[in-house]
Amino acid sequence: MTEPRDQQADEVYRAYAGQPAGVGGRAPDPVNAPMIRHWCEVMGETNTARTGADAVAPPAMLQVWTMAGLDSAGSSRSGAYDELFARLDADGCTSVVATDCEQRYLRPLRLGERVLFEAVIESVSSEKSTALGVGRFVTTRMDLRAYDEARGEKPEEATPAATHRFRILKYRPAARPATRPEADADADPDADPGPDAERPAAVRPRPVVNRDTAGFWEGVAAGELRFQRCDDCGAARFPWLPGCNACGSARWTAEAASGAGTVYSSVVVHHPLPAAFDRPYAVALVELAEGVRIVSNVVGIQPQRVRIGLPVELVFERCDDELTLPMFRPSTRPSARSSTPPGDAGQELPELRISVTRTLVVAGAIVTRDFQDVHHDVELARAKGSPDIFMNILTTNGLVGRYVSDWTGPGAMVTGIALRLGVPAYPGSELTFNGHAMTDDSGQMTISVIGTNDLGTHATATVTLAAAPASGGRG
Ligand code: ZN
Repeated sequence: MTEPRDQQADEVYRAYAGQPAGVGGRAPDPVNAPMIRHWCEVMGETNTARTGADAVAPPAMLQVWTMAGLDSAGSSRSGAYDELFARLDADGCTSVVATDCEQRYLRPLRLGERVLFEAVIESVSSEKSTALGVGRFVTTRMDLRAYDEARGEKPEEATPAATHRFRILKYRPAARPATRPEADADADPDADPGPDAERPAAVRPRPVVNRDTAGFWEGVAAGELRFQRCDDCGAARFPWLPGCNACGSARWTAEAASGAGTVYSSVVVHHPLPAAFDRPYAVALVELAEGVRIVSNVVGIQPQRVRIGLPVELVFERCDDELTLPMFRPSTRPSARSSTPPGDAGQELPELRISVTRTLVVAGAIVTRDFQDVHHDVELARAKGSPDIFMNILTTNGLVGRYVSDWTGPGAMVTGIALRLGVPAYPGSELTFNGHAMTDDSGQMTISVIGTNDLGTHATATVTLAAAPASGGRG
């Protein structure tokens, strides 16, 4: 329940919306080859568009040009922004983590250009409960312009280059933060077990079996997925109902589905976390080859990779001693009938695995000019409720950019990256990137990227390209 006191606090925080977050920002360095090279080295980006006299900066490097650096005394942060942070600190929200980064690139940044930027606080959320703790999301928008300083242009000749939205969570650390399993040895044994704690007694909810649905469950027991077909008009129907939706007839015959189908719609459940469900898990509306649709789970695939049009096949999953449920897994038969026309399913990018070493986390922080202690100092990271240092969002964004760039080759014009961070990436883990590219009627290509590790989904991103790469991807 929201108490009046909270509402008052919400209003105080909401009043920051629209106030400047930074004024008159000027990049400390012009766009230059050494900073681009160092960044590419750490991200592993080998795109040839980043080198030579005509080099353009990697789009995902955008924010780096605006970073204040180790001595943030030269920072252009506004009084309102500092005041907002001080207020959040005073409220106990002393920890900070970046959660979203949305960048729109209007044009490439070339060597010798100077970046100018203005930032505004877009919104401050009400208090939210998160896996990390209770806190508020602060969204900032930055507008970037640039002028060709090397060729003698003046600041007033600067033209729009990009916009950059950035969301952080300022929060009170939870008693038990999300940890890597091996870090649990450090956890307070008296602490309240979190939602991830084992609940050995938990079982999946039992289905309701009644006179109308008994035939379906008899089918499951017999290893069949049965739907109904009207004896009078021939319409197939599911879920089970006493009468036909098409003609009203009460006469029907049960039929066993072939088991082939396609994902019509899907969602990945992360939260809340019902007992007896492994998280995250994919819930899908599957269209069977016979034309009826059924809500089920898709298993045997990373939940985030389940997508509309994915061909699937029936599989019976044993949940416990008493419960077996019909579910679906990616089809092992490539010829499975699909409601998606060929060619519309897009292209899969090759998987990329990245070893998240301590060196990569620290080098990524430095090369993106992000000197927050949680990205390089273990003791200070622990003091702030994290089990270890963790990768900063600028590095994750850079890796997403590099992953897509590896595939498109040098000719592609990236117009945007929208990134959402999930679980942290700690040293000693492995990040696996997968991507799926779709082209719309206007030729714009959208690439969905997910980065996963042993804790779950680290990053989900949407990367847009002005036009499909001429080669259709060189991967
Ligand atoms: Zn009928």
